[in-house]
Order: sequence, then structure tokens, then C-alpha cells
Amino acid sequence: MSNTLLRSLPSIDRLLLSPTAVRLAGQIGRERVRDLLREISDELRSQIADAPREQLDLTPDLLPSLIEGRLETRAEQVMKPSLRRVINASGVIIHTNLGRAPLARAATEAIHEIAAGYSNLEFDLETGERGRRDSHCASLISRLAATQAAAVTNNNAAAVLLVLNTLAEGGEVIVSRGELIEIGGSFRIPDVMEKSGAILREVGTTNRTRIADYAAAINEKTRLILRVHPSNYRIIGFTERPTVPDIAELAARSGIPSFEDLGSGCLVDLAPYGVKDEPVVAESIRQGISVVSFSGDKMLGGPQAGIIAGSRPIIDRVRKNPLMRALRVDKMTYAALEATLRLYDRGVADQEVPVIRGISARIEQVKERAARFATLLAARSGLRTGLEEGQTVIGGGSAPGVRLPTVVVTLESTELSAATIESMLRGFVIHDTARTEKDRVVIDLRTVAPGDESLIIQTIESISAQNRDKA
Ligand SMILES: *Cc1c(COP(=O)(O)O)cnc(C)c1O
Repeated sequence: MSNTLLRSLPSIDRLLLSPTAVRLAGQIGRERVRDLLREISDELRSQIADAPREQLDLTPDLLPSLIEGRLETRAEQVMKPSLRRVINASGVIIHTNLGRAPLARAATEAIHEIAAGYSNLEFDLETGERGRRDSHCASLISRLAATQAAAVTNNNAAAVLLVLNTLAEGGEVIVSRGELIEIGGSFRIPDVMEKSGAILREVGTTNRTRIADYAAAINEKTRLILRVHPSNYRIIGFTERPTVPDIAELAARSGIPSFEDLGSGCLVDLAPYGVKDEPVVAESIRQGISVVSFSGDKMLGGPQAGIIAGSRPIIDRVRKNPLMRALRVDKMTYAALEATLRLYDRGVADQEVPVIRGISARIEQVKERAARFATLLAARSGLRTGLEEGQTVIGGGSAPGVRLPTVVVTLESTELSAATIESMLRGFVIHDTARTEKDRVVIDLRTVAPGDESLIIQTIESISAQNRDKA
């Protein structure tokens, strides 16, 4: 039997002529189809050879459709991009695992416009001569951060490395022990410091550092005072930390620059929406810090980038550092960042920048939207939906103590367990698995883009339809 089967395995050339193979060749290329067919034939051959005679539930006439079926499945895998879109219904606004900030429409349009063609990335359209890439967002950042000059790097980790290397290579940098932090993805201040060539001079204790501790550490080797925003944790209780003006004043008096790594760096004050201890960029500059850095894709809600803003002499030195060439960003980042910054400049960030929109949405709005969604979802899917008060978090290592009130939609089914719904949603609609405890799925619309509700409903509708078919 197995010999007959082995002999009746069609040749690769014959398999390539099947309508399925021809159609798939149009989608993934003939060479790829040929490789997949070889793979499948080899597997079948060893399966047939290894299987005990009586267990082989296969006859020669079944072989072509079996192979075609496997080819179809594998071609589908090949066609699926590795990086795929998902809907974030988790209630974590800046979700690092889901790509942090979703971009504003203006930013994606700008990327499309610039990426698809040539641009004046390094060309001065007025003089017709070579221009500077780093001029593109500089004036907008300077305006919004109330500073003289700015530079853009690949991310804030790069920005911190670059500033430390530029200002303090071979010299000492004073940092409070309470600020020697680790950000997710193993970015640790002491390690970055070492890589920058600067020498870490720790002062104070974990919970209390006074300005006198900084002052006592200043010597002829001191190049910089660093202040780090402890983004993802808070020390509470018996604590003390010098204010920004204290640090700025001591640095100025000692003739050394001060640098603040702001982490998220808000361009607008989000305190009215309940986000109280995220520093506003312009505030640090106004209070006298020489240079600050922050992320483009945290609270700012733009593309992955690091923004360095500060006094012109410092930014000029940063720009001239050869490391800048290794840490610079490409045209798509400039396009998206500039478009995002323009929304702040126009004062429409709370409506147009998704991160700020998610944070600033009023609870009544969220509730109304959740109610509409729950009703529609119940009607279309036949599942039981409900509304419940909940909490949205900022995420991305920002504002750890902040909980924004939200109204979540709960989803239950008499036929399907929460685990089943969950496993079928996974890979597209990402929700808060921690809140799935009572055999139901929880969806927070604060993090869902307007208009994406229908995609969630379609997905859930097809899950319950599939289940009905099976039953
Ligand atoms: C997030 C963060 C960084 C790293 O920023 P990336 O843009 O992720 O590279 C550095 N410092 C602080 C304080 C942060 O919060």
C-alpha cells in the first residue's frame, strides 16, 4: 500500500499545473510555490514511509487534493506579514508591545506623501544647494518647547546617550541615587552612562537627595548635572528631591550645564485630565535646565524618535557629534513628527493626536460610546454585553500612578467560554486579559480609534457565527 502511494505522488511539475498552484503563484511567486510543494511532498513521503500500514487513511486519488489543501494553508502563512495591524481594546493607551503611539491621520498622510517620492530632506529649495536634514522639525520643537534649538534622534535612549557623550565624555556626571532607573527593554541609566564614556557620580540616597548633595559632589572633573524623570515608578513616603529650578540654579552658578531626561515629555499640560506628574517640556526649559530630551512616541503621540531641545551652543555641539550620524532619523520620521507637532502648534492635539484624544476624552463621551457599542454588538453577535466602570492606564512607562476613569464593555456568552472568545480574538483585538477573570471578555474603547468599533463587531460576529456552524 505505501509503495503504491509513494509511486502515485504527483511530480512537482504536475502539481505546479493545478489551478490552486497557478493562482497562488500569482500571489506569492512560482518559485515560492515550487518550494512549498517540495516541502509538502517530502513531508508526505516520509509520513507514508513511516506510518504503519493499517493506520494510513489515504488512497492515491486523495493525494492531489490533500497536497493542494496543505499548499493553500502554507501560502496563507507566507502571505501574512509579520508586522500586522491590531486593535487595542486593552485600556493601556501607550502600549509598548502594541507599538506605543498610534499616529494622527495628518502624520500618516505626511509619511505617505514623503515616503512615496523624493523630498527636500537634505536640499535647500531656496538656494538650490545642499540643506540640512536636522533643520526640519527644529523650529517647531523650539517653539513648542520654548527653547532655542533642537535635534531629533532615533529614540530617547539614543538622545540620552548622545547628550551624555557630547557634554560629558571623560568627565563626571552627577545623578541622584533615586534616579538611577531602568526603563523597560533594559535601558539603565548607569549602563548608558558608561557607554557614553561619562563617569557616573552618584549622590544622595534612594529616597532622599538634597541640593547640597549635588553641590558637594561638584569638582573640576564635573561636566554635567543630570536629572531623570522616574517614568515608570514613584518613590512615596519619606522622600526629598531638589526642584528643577534648584538644579538649574546650582548648575548655572557652577558654570556647568544641566540635562533633564524627561522620559515622556508632555508638550501640553495634561493635569486637567488627571495626568499630574508628567513634566511639561517648556516648563523645564523655562525653569533654567540647559537641555532636555524626551520620546516622540510616548505622551507626544508621534513616531518613534528622541527629541533633544535646549540652548543653541549645546545643540550645535550635539549636532556636530559624529554619533549623530549613527543615531539620526529617516525622512518618514521627520514627516510624521513634523505633522504631529503642527497639530500641537494649531492647538488641536486633543482632537487629532490619538494618545492625547484617549487621555482627554470625557467620561460621558466614553460612556455614551460604550453604550452604543454594547447595544450594537449584542444585536449583531447574539452575545450578552454589559457596561461597567473601569480604569484606563497611560502605559509606556509613563504616569504609573494615573488611572483614568473609563466605562468598559463586558462580553459573555452562554455557549462560548471567555477563554474561547479570547483565543479567537487574540491576534487582532487585544483586550485586557487580566480583566477576563469572571469568564467574560472586557473591552475598553478609550484606546480604540473612532470607527474601529465596526471591525471589532465584525470579528466577534464571525467568532459566534463559526461557533453556531460548529454546534
Ligand atoms: C522611555 C524612557 C527612555 C527611553 O526612551 P525611548 O524613546 O523608549 O528610547 C529614557 N528615559 C526615560 C526617563 C524614559 O521614560
